[in-house]
Amino acid sequence: MKLLTTMILAAAAFCAIPASHASQPATRVIAHRGYWKAEGAAQNSIRALQNAIRIGAYGSEFDVLVTADGVPVIHHDDRIGERRIEDTPYRELRSHRLSNGEKLPTLRQYLKTGAGQRDTRLILEMKAHSTPEKERQAARIILDEVRRSPAAPSVDYITFSKVMADEIVRLDPAARVYYLNGDLSPAAVKAAGYAGLDYHHGIMRQHETWFNEAHALGLEVNVWTVNDEPTMRWLIDHGADYITTDEPELLQSLLNVPE
Ligand code: MG
Repeated sequence: MKLLTTMILAAAAFCAIPASHASQPATRVIAHRGYWKAEGAAQNSIRALQNAIRIGAYGSEFDVLVTADGVPVIHHDDRIGERRIEDTPYRELRSHRLSNGEKLPTLRQYLKTGAGQRDTRLILEMKAHSTPEKERQAARIILDEVRRSPAAPSVDYITFSKVMADEIVRLDPAARVYYLNGDLSPAAVKAAGYAGLDYHHGIMRQHETWFNEAHALGLEVNVWTVNDEPTMRWLIDHGADYITTDEPELLQSLLNVPE
C-alpha cells in the first residue's frame, strides 16, 4: 500500500510539471548561411551546407533570390557587383564565384545536396524583392522548385516579407513558414497561419513573454543570429526552440549534443 501511495504521488508530481517544460524539446541548432566558418566553405555555399550536415546541425539556413528569368539562386545580397539579381538573367550570373571558388549555387543544386539525408533540415530564406508582384511571383517559383525536389519534406521557409510568407501559406497550407521581421505578436503570427516566429534576439529581449505566448499557441520560436555564449544560454533558459548561429559547434557544445 505504501508503495502504491508513493507511485501515485510520483505520478501526480510528474503531471504537475508545467506543460511548457514537459512537452518542450531541447533547443536545436540552425547554422546561419550554412556552416561557412569551417574550412573550404563560404557563406551560402554548397560546402557550407555539407559542413552543417556533417556536424549534424538540426538545420542549415540559406538565402534565395530569383533572377529576371525565374531561376532561384542562393545569395544573400540583392546584387552581385553592379547587377541586381532580380533584374539580371541567370546566364549573366552563373559564372560568379563565391570566395571559396564555388560557382553561384542554384536552389536546384542546393536541394540536390540536401536530398538523401534527413538529419539536417533546409531552412530556406526567401529574400525580399522590389515589388509585391515580384515577391508573389518569386515565392511561387521557389515553391515550385521545392515541390519538384525529393528534399521537399526537409524544407522550412523563413522570410522578412509578409507578402512572400502569405503566398506560401496560401499555396501550400501545410508548409512550415516562420516570420522574421519582428513586428508581429505571437497571436498575429498564429492568425497568419505561420508555424512560428524567427526574431532577432534583441526583439525577444524586449518581449520575454513571447516565448510562452508563442508556445501556448502551438507556435515555435527561432532566434537569430546568436554567436555569443551568454545570449545562447539566455535563449536556452527561455525555451527557444531553435537558435540560428554562425557558431553551430559552440552551440552544440552548450547543448551537449553527442559527437
Ligand atoms: Mg538569411
